[in-house]
Amino acid sequence: MSKFWSDIVHKLTPYVPGEQPKLTNLVKLNTNENPYGPGPKVIAALKTEAADTLRLYPDPNSDALKAAIAHAYALSPNQVFVGNGSDEVLAHVFQALLKHDQPLLFPDITYSFYPVYCGLYGIDYRTVPLAEDFSINIDDYKQPNGGIIFPNPNAPTGIPLALSQIEQLLQRNPGSVVVIDEAYVDFGTESAVGLISRYPNLLVTHTLSKARSLAGLRVGYAMGSPDLIEALIRVKDSFNSYPIDRFASAGAIAALQDTEYFEKTCKQVMATREALVDDLVKLGFQVLPSGANFIFARHPAWDGAELTAKLRERSIIVRHFKSPARISPYLRITIGTDAQSKLLIDALSGIL
Ligand SMILES: *Cc1c(COP(=O)(O)O)cnc(C)c1O
Repeated sequence: MSKFWSDIVHKLTPYVPGEQPKLTNLVKLNTNENPYGPGPKVIAALKTEAADTLRLYPDPNSDALKAAIAHAYALSPNQVFVGNGSDEVLAHVFQALLKHDQPLLFPDITYSFYPVYCGLYGIDYRTVPLAEDFSINIDDYKQPNGGIIFPNPNAPTGIPLALSQIEQLLQRNPGSVVVIDEAYVDFGTESAVGLISRYPNLLVTHTLSKARSLAGLRVGYAMGSPDLIEALIRVKDSFNSYPIDRFASAGAIAALQDTEYFEKTCKQVMATREALVDDLVKLGFQVLPSGANFIFARHPAWDGAELTAKLRERSIIVRHFKSPARISPYLRITIGTDAQSKLLIDALSGIL
């Protein structure tokens, strides 16, 4: 606390990301990174970018990157917005599109950055409880709102919502922006991108941090009607002219173009997920259905915090959320390699 701080700083409750440990010998299954590194084409593009041109500012409009995204999703570049990680894109979304007289709606159990952005930008919000089975029931969103946002699949539950449900939500809320945060969509969940041409109130956000193996590069994007994209560009151009540096642009374009590597690694992660779920069920775990590169699992005989601590003693880190109480028995486990799954199962067998 300092007398030098602006008023709002005193009131902020910042987001706390999962630990990035300094130790290197850990089995790191806590922040949903991809166990497979970026493909060789991405590495080659980054090496090429390490050149004299770094003395020049990058393209403030990121035209080449927007073109690559537009091409990948059959959109036009004016339906695409890019930013320094999807967290930055989301920050602009909250400020540009979700601050209205009526409250913003999102699930009570969801990505915990959403209430943080509301605090930062003074946005009124209301949380909507997930159903008993942790799914999103769109009938619970039949209330006046200034916008709706949730991840699909949801985080940290991993549970996907059917596209038909999202379409109904869009039809019921023509006067509000509905944001679908598709950070994990490539691991077996249906994308809403195909609905963009028919619903001017739909905004879909993606990140290169998970399925594209580039968490360290910081690139995210939003896709929606040119009207929504224009609002984001206005905020961005009032905040930072160059959020995408030359490396980020080169690496992201190469990653988006290497469809083969992307599909191969996503398939492998999904196969590892299915095998891990089977093994956990055999150990007595209850695992929520996942369309993501992580699973949410609990053991009826164990406290979540205690189990997390026991795994840590064995050099395996997973994510645990103390609150709300409903999810405190659960561990959120990132899908790693098959070898990492084996280490996890061996450790759990020992502990249990
Ligand atoms: C990881 C994640 C993000 C942020 O991704 P970055 O592009 O790395 O900032 C956004 N939303 C959800 C739900 C996530 O899990």
